Amino acid sequence: MIDYQPFIEQLNSDDDNREALAQWLEQMPAQIAKGLDEKRYGDLPRWKSVLAQLPDWPTAAYDLNQTAIQLTNENALTAEQHSDFKQQLQGLHPWRKGPFNLFDVEIDTEWRSDWKWDRLKDHIEPLQGKKVLDIGCGSGYHCWRMRGAGADLVIGIDPTPLFIVQFFTLQKYIQDHRVTVLPMGIEHLPEKLRFFDSVFSMGVLYHRRSPFDHLMELRDSLTSGGELVLETLVIEGDEGEVLVPEGRYARMGNVWFLPSCPTMMRWLKKVGFKDIKLVNVTDTTIEEQRSTEWMTFHSLEQFLDPENHSKTIEGYPAPRRAIFTAKAP
Ligand code: SAH
Repeated sequence: MIDYQPFIEQLNSDDDNREALAQWLEQMPAQIAKGLDEKRYGDLPRWKSVLAQLPDWPTAAYDLNQTAIQLTNENALTAEQHSDFKQQLQGLHPWRKGPFNLFDVEIDTEWRSDWKWDRLKDHIEPLQGKKVLDIGCGSGYHCWRMRGAGADLVIGIDPTPLFIVQFFTLQKYIQDHRVTVLPMGIEHLPEKLRFFDSVFSMGVLYHRRSPFDHLMELRDSLTSGGELVLETLVIEGDEGEVLVPEGRYARMGNVWFLPSCPTMMRWLKKVGFKDIKLVNVTDTTIEEQRSTEWMTFHSLEQFLDPENHSKTIEGYPAPRRAIFTAKAP
């Protein structure tokens, strides 16, 4: 079941959180209702019924600190239970961000999101005891890893309802109400929260039409001195260089711009971020993003030039992603 009440109660039970987020707490029920409006999202009733029919197995243990977010129960599933459960979970196709392992059913998602985590985890401020926001978190895979790293509170936001249902599939068995994923985009985040110690924006910036507005929203959601972890598509090049794809980029219709790393750092500086660091640059491979039985649609391999994987199918430089950290003023 999708139930935000325990999370809201958890927030309300802490005086500091309740006061700092008072305005958001007021808006939250309406935002949740809008983000999960069955009139807007025709498939939502079907996904919700998958969630409602999942077995009520007790979770003996879970592990948020390894490659796959893993749930285990006392007794191994019978072959029949395993196959029924797998079939139920496949009713939430496509599974994009993961991997997960639920009672020995391995959800091999389109993305090896753990690779991104491994690339950034040693470069960020420790999350122990921190309040964290993950913008565009998808199924919430990284939210669980953040909680595993000791964060006190993790709020993910994502406007895609299927990913919310996937998050609650894990939450059904984990029941950790210091982690949630809210069905909303960054444009609906209350302005100037100045609340979070760490804010992650990964794989979102290039989908936004206005990079500076996005960076200012990120800045204003952080406490002074709080850390932004920004991951985005980049191109090779000097300061000032930006690729604006004419049409699609790697078959994605909503990619507005890909800056070079020096350009991205200048943008961060322009909106007032301090201590800006480029911590990783990696070409996305067809091992990191690929079709699997949990995401059977086309994936990166089909979005690249079949003769030359250093180009997208449209002839642009193939996906390369960079991770930056910066401190809010
Ligand atoms: N952060 C994850 C997922 C990136 S995919 C990772 O790095 O692996 C981009 C995500 O952004 C998708 O899940 C999409 O639903 C979400 N998204 C799209 N528009 C958004 C918006 N306006 N605000 C927040 N998230 C958005």
